[in-house]
Amino acid sequence: MVSFYPGPSEVYSKVPLYLKDAYAQGVMSMNHRSAEFMTISQRCVVLLKEKLKIPEDYHVFFASSATECWEIIAQSLVQKHSVHIFNGAFGKKWFDYTQRIKSDARAIEFDQQEKFDLNMLPRHEADTLCITQNETSNGTQVSNRSLHAIRKAIKGLIAVDATSSLGGVWLDLQLADVWFASVQKCFGLPAGLAVMICSPAALQRAQTIGDHAHYNSLLFMAEMMEHWQTSCTPNVLDIYLLMRVMEDNKPIEKIDTTITTRYHKWEAFFKHPGDRFNLLIKNPAVRSRTVLTVEAAPPHVALIKEKAREAGFILGEGYGELKSTTFRIANFPAIKRTDITQLMEFLHDYR
Ligand SMILES: *Cc1c(COP(=O)(O)O)cnc(C)c1O
Repeated sequence: MVSFYPGPSEVYSKVPLYLKDAYAQGVMSMNHRSAEFMTISQRCVVLLKEKLKIPEDYHVFFASSATECWEIIAQSLVQKHSVHIFNGAFGKKWFDYTQRIKSDARAIEFDQQEKFDLNMLPRHEADTLCITQNETSNGTQVSNRSLHAIRKAIKGLIAVDATSSLGGVWLDLQLADVWFASVQKCFGLPAGLAVMICSPAALQRAQTIGDHAHYNSLLFMAEMMEHWQTSCTPNVLDIYLLMRVMEDNKPIEKIDTTITTRYHKWEAFFKHPGDRFNLLIKNPAVRSRTVLTVEAAPPHVALIKEKAREAGFILGEGYGELKSTTFRIANFPAIKRTDITQLMEFLHDYR
């Protein structure tokens, strides 16, 4: 089976090899306070910085999920209120989870076909602006160009959920203060680990707020990370796997080129007039490069998903209210070119 599910997704084909090494090297029973672990953790961070072009003065932390990152931000970085600008289910969930911790959170929703516009920004200063760069539920994205415009217009901190894009496309990380992603999407790894990237301004905000109430208070995480450690027993195995993936992976610009080329192939594939399926997002400017959402009549969606499974492909279910009218196709770097060609051949018969 080849998984085109946009998370948990197909893992890099070398993962079984890394697992064998991990077992042989005792990584699975490794103490998280040991020098051996600190070496792996440090090397993982150094490689992430190098391969993803993380600004030198930014900090990298390990968490267990993107959901945990939402809570860390709410606890440790939101001063009075955050403003969440979103057009889909994950952006909404982030807002909902934040509201339970900081009840003054505000939401600004926009249409999924609509490009991010500066007029959408809150009129009153938000201390933390929360943006979902790649909305996995509907297959939309906020471009680097839009992020650039937002950065110029906003004084507060900017936090970006890049769970289904970080590691797959080039993101100009200077344009925000917090970035995070769990590894079961674009990083092609098993779930149970997230990477959180913070600017010096984010760390300063954490100092100002001084939240020490939680095991995952950002200040505590930062203190532990000075020694390449975490505040609880982390997913040592996944950190090791991430280190191995980062060792093998090309720099993000190269991966971005591959992903963009494949995206354009998919775009051309779905451009046939008269087909029984179409891309949900009509505006190419806001279409995600890493998650394609395909729209069809519900019986046809059900048929394609079932037949795909029989043919050895797992397609992504439509998310939330889009469940019966769409299916999703991940365009993540761990997926092989030949598998994409084969999925296209399969889908051709159902157009
Ligand atoms: C998958 C996903 C999440 C949730 O990730 P977890 O690791 O399950 O917490 C959050 N945001 C986006 C955009 C996602 O795609």
